[in-house]
Amino acid sequence: MRDVPRRRFIHTLGLGVAALATRSVRLVAQAPRRIVVVGGGIMGASIAYHLAKRGAGVTLLEKRAPGTGATANSFAWINAGAKRPRGYYELNHLGMAGWRRLQGELGPSTLVVQWGGTVQWQAAADRAEAFRKAVASQQAWGYGTRLVDVPEMRRLVPALEPGPVAAASFCEEEGTVDPVGATRLLLEAAVAHGAVVRHPADVTGFDLDGTGIRGVRVGGETIAADAIVVATGVEMPGLMRPLGVDVPMEESPGLLAHTTPHARLFDRVLVAPGATLKQLPNGEIVTGVDFGGSPSRETTPAMGARLLAGAGRFVPKLAEATLDRVTLGFRVLPADGQPVIGRVEGRPNVYLAAMHSGITLAPAVGQLAAIELLDGVEVDLLAPYRLARFAKSR
Ligand SMILES: Cc1cc2nc3c(=O)[nH]c(=O)nc-3n(C[C@H](O)[C@H](O)[C@H](O)COP(=O)(O)OP(=O)(O)OC[C@H]3O[C@@H](n4cnc5c(N)ncnc54)[C@H](O)[C@@H]3O)c2cc1C
Repeated sequence: MRDVPRRRFIHTLGLGVAALATRSVRLVAQAPRRIVVVGGGIMGASIAYHLAKRGAGVTLLEKRAPGTGATANSFAWINAGAKRPRGYYELNHLGMAGWRRLQGELGPSTLVVQWGGTVQWQAAADRAEAFRKAVASQQAWGYGTRLVDVPEMRRLVPALEPGPVAAASFCEEEGTVDPVGATRLLLEAAVAHGAVVRHPADVTGFDLDGTGIRGVRVGGETIAADAIVVATGVEMPGLMRPLGVDVPMEESPGLLAHTTPHARLFDRVLVAPGATLKQLPNGEIVTGVDFGGSPSRETTPAMGARLLAGAGRFVPKLAEATLDRVTLGFRVLPADGQPVIGRVEGRPNVYLAAMHSGITLAPAVGQLAAIELLDGVEVDLLAPYRLARFAKSR
């Protein structure tokens, strides 16, 4: 490494910069100068932003339009409390802090995060003890959650009719964000830092150079790259297979009903028995069944009416809302439920990022991936998420 005066450096070299002090920048010899990010969902956008902010030469290629994959169909609850094991909880918690950091960087009135917290409850008496224990264990990790009674639930959400409540909690730390809007903002900010965003740009293959990759193929064109980040969501296994790289993933569909904008009913995330609800800043109400895979893929108005009726058990005024649409999304779910993040063994300039809870995680993963890619280090917190774990478990 060597230090060079900032102005001269920018004029003569331009890229491959890790900005440090105000008067000088440090040239990291092994840092890749041209990084191609494949995939313009929240994950690709966050990684591109964090790389470009640090001076890397970034080109992001998106097959359709930014924020049209899992990101478009996400409930986008920003949370960590129930995540296990401890390291995965910490990563999600860092993601939550990351959203606050990004609001500072992009402007809180530009990047709007609804930090209303979450009211969550359990109706079944035989699950109350487990619920209370879960809240206590989250508190022991320093998470900002606590048990609440029904009067407090009503105070927090006046429109709520919770029905039977065996145990309930309020987590003041959590929130929700418009995932597509946030993706676009991150890409705009990446472009402001010099990144190039291209769509539609379908990456169909790679130009190989021994174990490395020299470029990606888009149509008849090859775009040269020193490093490639693959953030193609559920399409990662298909893109990586020709390279002999197996990314095991589960299929996990999820339905959400969206209303047209409605008068404000509530401003917190509600996690009720068998229904999740939120209301966006524009008044749109979004509701789903739970956070597991959905048994149905039906996006009919009848399904929408069923989802709204289920949620309406807890917010009766929902009966006045008008269904706009039902969306079907597919979670980006590696086979063991944990993220896949990091370089591919044997192909050191290929970096993968595929995970569920990607909305919560995007700010942290973007920042940590930029450290790994630009500084040539391995971040401890990401060690459990290397793809190689699947090969080792076989
Ligand atoms: C129903 C549902 C509810 C969810 N709820 C939550 C939640 O409450 N909280 C939370 O944190 N997370 C939640 N998630 C998960 C979260 O939405 C995802 O983890 C996240 O959106 C994944 O982002 P991504 O950028 O990795 O993938 P995607 O958004 O799928 O983006 C991948 C992009 O890559 C592009 N692409 C694919 N192949 C190519 C190619 N060959 N060339 C160029 N581009 C390509 C695609 O077009 C796509 O735009 C939910 C997901 C679903 C489906």
